[in-house]
Amino acid sequence: MSGLIDPYKRRIDYLRISVTDRCNLRCVYCMPAEGIALKEPREILRYEELLRIARIAVRRGITRIRITGGEPLVRRGIIEFLGELSRMDGLEDLSLTTNGVLLKDYATRLKEAGLKRVNVSLDSLRRERFLRITRGDHLQRVLDGLEEAERIGLKPVKVNVVVIKGFNDDEVVDFALLTKEKPYHVRFIEYMPFDVEAGWQKEKCMTTREIMDLITHHEPLEPVNTGYTGAGPARRFRFRGAPGEVGFISPVSEHFCSSCNRLRLTADGKLRTCLFSDDEIDIREALREGKSDEDIERLLFMAVKGKPMGHRINDNLFKKCSRTMSFIGG
Ligand code: SAM
Ligand code: SF4
Repeated sequence: MSGLIDPYKRRIDYLRISVTDRCNLRCVYCMPAEGIALKEPREILRYEELLRIARIAVRRGITRIRITGGEPLVRRGIIEFLGELSRMDGLEDLSLTTNGVLLKDYATRLKEAGLKRVNVSLDSLRRERFLRITRGDHLQRVLDGLEEAERIGLKPVKVNVVVIKGFNDDEVVDFALLTKEKPYHVRFIEYMPFDVEAGWQKEKCMTTREIMDLITHHEPLEPVNTGYTGAGPARRFRFRGAPGEVGFISPVSEHFCSSCNRLRLTADGKLRTCLFSDDEIDIREALREGKSDEDIERLLFMAVKGKPMGHRINDNLFKKCSRTMSFIGG
């Protein structure tokens, strides 16, 4: 049976599913403080619909699924849903991205449901600043969540840090040093252009080169050679003898488009093939009109056929996305 291969010969084997557009935080670069137009519950895909799409996608070569949002842990029934996914034949890797606020309460149940690892987004280790970035006073809960995830053996615990110049770049070294105490994989992500309150400016984006310079000025990093190329776009390093790792994800300064293997499903059932393209294919209506598995497959193939070669963030022609990360699922 043929798999999902786009016109540029990229094999699409990674699906990111946003399970909700709701969130218990309001990060300044992701959501406005208030007045966000949330979808009606009936517009959001039901779990059985998500599972059906996942099953069809896995039959067509998807081997890795990441669950994201909004905040996935705020959706009721998420544990049972993850349990179903983790038992799905053919799915080799299941992961979850969370803001960590509910992680301490959920970690054990996540593990029992079959989740092996977790990605936690955390942009500041300082309470006041965390509050300013996320508009929620929950730093301690996130730190407790990280501890708990480590304690019960969700491995590795990845900590994703979006670096914004003049905002949290003075914490880059602190985050990196965390990997000398903890087995966390701290990954620095370049701040990407989404139109939240017109807040993104190119000058606020700190490049991987600049972030690395800050760290290596403090202490040298050694590359981690995994020999495994399917690990995603992060470039990985560690301090000598450190239990954790430092990684860099550079969507702005270095395109990883040529090896992009991703397909995204928004919470309201739209397939997107590029984070930075507003082209979407509606899969929800097809499901609700009673279309067959073959029809759904055709939509997957159609989406993949239209996957753009790359984004143009650095071009003058670049047009910001009309939907923010909380809708698309970062
Ligand atoms: N709520 C969960 C969380 O925060 O981890 C999952 C969804 S969130 C949209 C997924 C990721 O997108 C987070 O790591 C967040 O930091 C990242 N993100 C959101 N807006 C971004 C932006 N403009 N640039 C870079 N990363 C962004
Ligand atoms: Fe919520 Fe995650 Fe967006 Fe922050 S980045 S507002 S936690 S969805």
